[in-house]
Amino acid sequence: MFLIMGFSGLIFSSCRNQSDTDKTNPFFAEYNTPFNVPPFEKVMAKHYMPAFEKGMTEGKKDIQDLVMNQEEPNFDNTIGALDKAGELLTRVSQVFFAQASANTNDSLQNIEMEISPKLAGYNDEIQLNPDLFKRVKQVYDNQGKYNLNSEQKFILENVYKEFIRSGANLNNEDQDTLKKINQRLSVLTVKFSQNVLDETNKYRLFVGKDGLAGLPESLVSAAAETAKAAEKEGEWAFTTQKPSIFPFLQYSPNRDLRRELFRAYTNRGNNGNEFDNNKLLAEIVKLRARRAKLLGYKTHSNLVLEPRMAKNPENVFNLLNNLWGKAVPVAQNEVNEMQKIIDKEGGNFKLEPSDWWYYAEKLRKQKYDLDDNELRPYFMLDNVREGVFNCANRLYGITFRPIAGCPLPQSEAEAYEVREANGSHLGVLYLDFHPRESKRQGAWCGGYRNYHIVDGKPVTPVVTVVCNFTRPSGDLPALLNLDEVETLFHEFGHALEGLFCKNAYNMSYIAWDFVELPSQIMEHWVTEPELLNVYARHYETGVPMPAELVNKLEKSKYFNQGFINTELLAASLLDMAYYTLEYPVEVDIQSFEKEFFNKIGLIPEIVSRYRSTYFLHIIDEYDSGYYSYTWAAVLDNDAFEAFKEKGVFDRATAESFRRNILEKDGTMDAMQMYVNFRGREPQIEPLLKNRGLITQVN
Ligand SMILES: [Zn+2]
Repeated sequence: MFLIMGFSGLIFSSCRNQSDTDKTNPFFAEYNTPFNVPPFEKVMAKHYMPAFEKGMTEGKKDIQDLVMNQEEPNFDNTIGALDKAGELLTRVSQVFFAQASANTNDSLQNIEMEISPKLAGYNDEIQLNPDLFKRVKQVYDNQGKYNLNSEQKFILENVYKEFIRSGANLNNEDQDTLKKINQRLSVLTVKFSQNVLDETNKYRLFVGKDGLAGLPESLVSAAAETAKAAEKEGEWAFTTQKPSIFPFLQYSPNRDLRRELFRAYTNRGNNGNEFDNNKLLAEIVKLRARRAKLLGYKTHSNLVLEPRMAKNPENVFNLLNNLWGKAVPVAQNEVNEMQKIIDKEGGNFKLEPSDWWYYAEKLRKQKYDLDDNELRPYFMLDNVREGVFNCANRLYGITFRPIAGCPLPQSEAEAYEVREANGSHLGVLYLDFHPRESKRQGAWCGGYRNYHIVDGKPVTPVVTVVCNFTRPSGDLPALLNLDEVETLFHEFGHALEGLFCKNAYNMSYIAWDFVELPSQIMEHWVTEPELLNVYARHYETGVPMPAELVNKLEKSKYFNQGFINTELLAASLLDMAYYTLEYPVEVDIQSFEKEFFNKIGLIPEIVSRYRSTYFLHIIDEYDSGYYSYTWAAVLDNDAFEAFKEKGVFDRATAESFRRNILEKDGTMDAMQMYVNFRGREPQIEPLLKNRGLITQVN
């Protein structure tokens, strides 16, 4: 997942005289830190609101100056000036929203609720400012006069269209309606996310010793610590956080406990309590449909997809339905194989969704003689991190060194300086690995500062990767499973894009269905024997993963692909189903979801990767966008073929990927970037082959 605040927003300008303001507020002073990272230890909750307020005041003043400029509008005094407006607001927003995701508390949650509608109003004030739009339109209509370079043309085109998609052409009455919708949405979406966090934090499944049968030692000791933290020493507690629930489902032979934990997981936000998200989501879907209609689009999907590679819902459905038709029979096959195991053991029951992980693990053992627990000792977090660094070093020549005494966004985080092969500074990378109550679920990459240019000089990026990985517990270091290893490589791919960015402007327009290419392509290196040999070393002995195990890993690559694809596609289709509804829309979330999955033929043994009431992606940034993972999968599988053709660490191919894609993203048409790298448009066959979806694989 990729979250960088202010991506297509309005950001940065040179520093200004702050003499009239509170000098104790760190946002109003020079940071004076290594590489100018935010001085986290000085930032207190009370500093945010004044900084937001002042930031918005300054931003409005910048826009006012731009509009009042007596010169004939041109690119620099209009688009360039817009690009620089509201520097302080960007600075505080980046720190605040990164912290609100990874390190929140009651105060930050309250600020988030308070500031979100204000920021929505601020954005509307800019996007719906008629004088500003008039100037932008004038520059757009006369662009032939200015001798613009390709990046400037691309930015101008997108700025102009963004104004239109944001309502610049509407009459006053409709603009007022639009503002109200945006205000309301800003509150609903924040509340939805906070509810999911609260529901996740609230739930604990306590068990006695008899509930621990079959569970790996690391999970048991983590569960003991969770129970202890809840003041129930002598018991064990499991949660709906990924590192807790999924190993439990995988290894616990206790069906009732599996069912109970899974019920809690799949019903987050659906418990009829104060954290219930059903009504919130129904209203979000309705308001987004209404807004699209107001703006002249058939559905929210049509509005959202216009600037993306996919362009329209039909293209998205074509891809998803094509894969759906191939994935479901493979999943059904997996069900049959697991049912055979149940029957053979005399189970006398039908496989249920909460049984999947347990029997899939048995199936893997049976078919490939591979157990997830065999892999973990070779995936010690420290080694995996070194593996990611090594991979990036071999591809791009860059190096990573810990920064001593660097302010950290959270005491558990790690800070690294990233340098080019020639030793010059590229940026700062934070890594923050483990779950906390203050952190939202999932994994993502964000930024505390984007690459940008001030007075002709580059300002380097500060990027952060945030995960929810297995913690060290007792004497055991953090030992990851394969999924977690892939997640780290994935997020690191986003981080590379942030670090390599060379945009001349702060405004960049990344096609959201292209954004998972840099991340997903990195996952392909995880199991490359050449790299495994370097990083997958036993945590006690340091011995590399035995060839036999590497072999088994390679052989088992089609394992569970029916399930993985089906649950992902189900969620992607659900997202599209909500956002292709035409206004007027009234949905009852639970029955809509149920009927929809019946209609598309989701088999009863699989639950969508996310159910509606905790599907954070479709609330925030990935609305009508969850398909992006699949869209980009076509690209990343095809792009990785280019590496395979020349050797997976071929420096020339890596260099081309960096210059054509990672550096350019957001400043150029996505398909053009891809063609520049690959020499042709993407093909779907590598994806089908790598996922075992061409022919059914047993
Ligand atoms: Zn991602």
